[in-house]
Amino acid sequence: MNKENYLSVNIDGKEVPFDPEQLRKIQSHPCFSEKACSRFGRMHLPVAPKCNIQCNYCIRKYDCVNETRPGVSSDVLTPQQSLERADEVFKKYPYIKVVGVAGPGEPLYNPETYETLRLIKEKYPNKILCISTNGLLLPEKIKELDEIGVSNLTITINAVDPEIGKEIYTYIKHNGKEYRGKEAAEILIEKQLEGLEKAMETDMIIKVNTVLIPTINEEHIPDIAKKIHEKGVYLQNITPLIPQYKLEDIEPPTRQQKKEIQEKCSEYVRQMKHCRQCRSDAVGKLGEDKSCQQKTNKKEK
Ligand code: SF4
Ligand code: SF4
Repeated sequence: MNKENYLSVNIDGKEVPFDPEQLRKIQSHPCFSEKACSRFGRMHLPVAPKCNIQCNYCIRKYDCVNETRPGVSSDVLTPQQSLERADEVFKKYPYIKVVGVAGPGEPLYNPETYETLRLIKEKYPNKILCISTNGLLLPEKIKELDEIGVSNLTITINAVDPEIGKEIYTYIKHNGKEYRGKEAAEILIEKQLEGLEKAMETDMIIKVNTVLIPTINEEHIPDIAKKIHEKGVYLQNITPLIPQYKLEDIEPPTRQQKKEIQEKCSEYVRQMKHCRQCRSDAVGKLGEDKSCQQKTNKKEK
């Protein structure tokens, strides 16, 4: 990319250089730009049911809590059914500019994710493609995502210290082996940061999600913000824990706790404050969910 063409944009009082195409992908994405919320929508395609890790706050029969909210289980669609859903949705809601895969499991662990994104890109080359991931497979998949044309990427990073990470993850499955405890957290964090570095070498816009878990990572979150800032991340989205599974006895953070941590982290990286913790089959503008109104045939389970 020729950096001479970069536009200088004033963000929170700082001049930040952006490639014009990157800027379009920020300004048309309701999660990456608060101003885009009222004008543009996003569509999540639930094509990725399996997961390669176990977070201690996730019950696997619901959506991936890292990007979406639990309590509702999205239907799983095949890639072809997703394309049909996209056809219907774009016809009805032309303001939907973003197509993402955010679960209900880990997108990069499910081959259907890549097939779906390719189908959408082929038919709708101007739509923005977006992915949310736990990051374990990111180093090996980033090239493929880039080739497909994914431009907006979210990685959930809840710890950069394995001593804290081991309290958040039960196990990870990697290269055919299962790891637990500190070793699992070490591998996951290493892959997340390696994946982040590789993603920063592409033209993708990167957001990091962090689940705020009182008594476990609340003091540590500014360290995460500092680390991701060093790597050049654009935006951090701190989401409150929804207590369930092994962490069901933890009190969720108050608004005030979240605000204070966001303030500390904003010294390092811009904070997203308008996340709605959507379903993994969410459709529409943020806060206006039209997913239940879609009638596309669902995948046989
Ligand atoms: Fe659940 Fe998502 Fe964690 Fe997998 S990555 S265990 S789907 S929250
Ligand atoms: Fe955007 Fe948050 Fe919804 Fe994801 S969960 S689509 S980041 S508002």
